[in-house]
Amino acid sequence: MSTKSVSLLLLIYFAGMSEQSYSQEKLKYYDLSKAESYVIDNKGTESPFTGKYTKFAEKGTYVCKKCGAALYHSSDKFESDCGWPSFDDEIKGAVTRYTDADGMRTEIVCSNCGAHLGHVFTGERLTSKNVRHCVNSVSLDFVPAQLPAGRYGTAIFAGGCFWGVEYFLQKAEGVISVTSGYTGGFVKNPTYKEVCTGNTGHAEAVKIVYDPQKTSYEKLLRLFLEIHDPTQSGRQGPDIGDQYRSEIFYLNDDQKKIAEKNLNILKDKGFKIATALTKASEFYPAEAYHQDYYFNNGKLPYCHAYIKRF
Ligand SMILES: [Zn+2]
Repeated sequence: MSTKSVSLLLLIYFAGMSEQSYSQEKLKYYDLSKAESYVIDNKGTESPFTGKYTKFAEKGTYVCKKCGAALYHSSDKFESDCGWPSFDDEIKGAVTRYTDADGMRTEIVCSNCGAHLGHVFTGERLTSKNVRHCVNSVSLDFVPAQLPAGRYGTAIFAGGCFWGVEYFLQKAEGVISVTSGYTGGFVKNPTYKEVCTGNTGHAEAVKIVYDPQKTSYEKLLRLFLEIHDPTQSGRQGPDIGDQYRSEIFYLNDDQKKIAEKNLNILKDKGFKIATALTKASEFYPAEAYHQDYYFNNGKLPYCHAYIKRF
């Protein structure tokens, strides 16, 4: 799973956007219990060896309890015997450091919402990276790498360069992961280079895994139709070619009906919709360097922006 943000960049970005788009960008904060708020809002510390993730070793991603932003991968967690979950690396851009008021320790907070996580220590030589993020379990939630069957929903959309589509959908509430890839064509295991020729039939697309208790297929579909221009045919913005076409790949009849309904709403509003609606076929994840491109490179999308259409 990837995510969710570099707060400073986002702040600069939001500052330049309209109020309308700001409301879309604003992540909803989850309600916190008293014990959670004591740590997360008031910089408290849970008692050592009491947190549920201290001795926890499952594979997956640790996300912020308050806003859902991804913070740590389980592959960076290690046993430290300090009594709190320990990580020797964070997801790039997800954690911000501040020096404590007494100047002695370095506090770590969620870059997206400012939730207090714990403290970070260096020079202890516990791992080769020589860093220990000492994090309160109550500041974290865990999303397993192997998702339980039937519990999560999947959506596949193509709307131009997948970096931009991924960027906006990754930040939406209830989205667990977004994978950039290729689908809709006839070449098996295509490479980026092959897809770029426009001759594989594939579109640059994203595969979204979401939590139906926090969002819905319809919400994500509408967001998709508002962060790219569904009236452009065979291109998206400056990217020209069939691989940049607008297309919804439905996975079942429910998704198909929801997509038809919403495309018709836009058509009734006068939009000349170019978005194709196609039964999903095999989805091929793109090369690793395409995943989380904007988050990893600290850049902002050049070809996608939120425009309210519904
Ligand atoms: Zn957060």
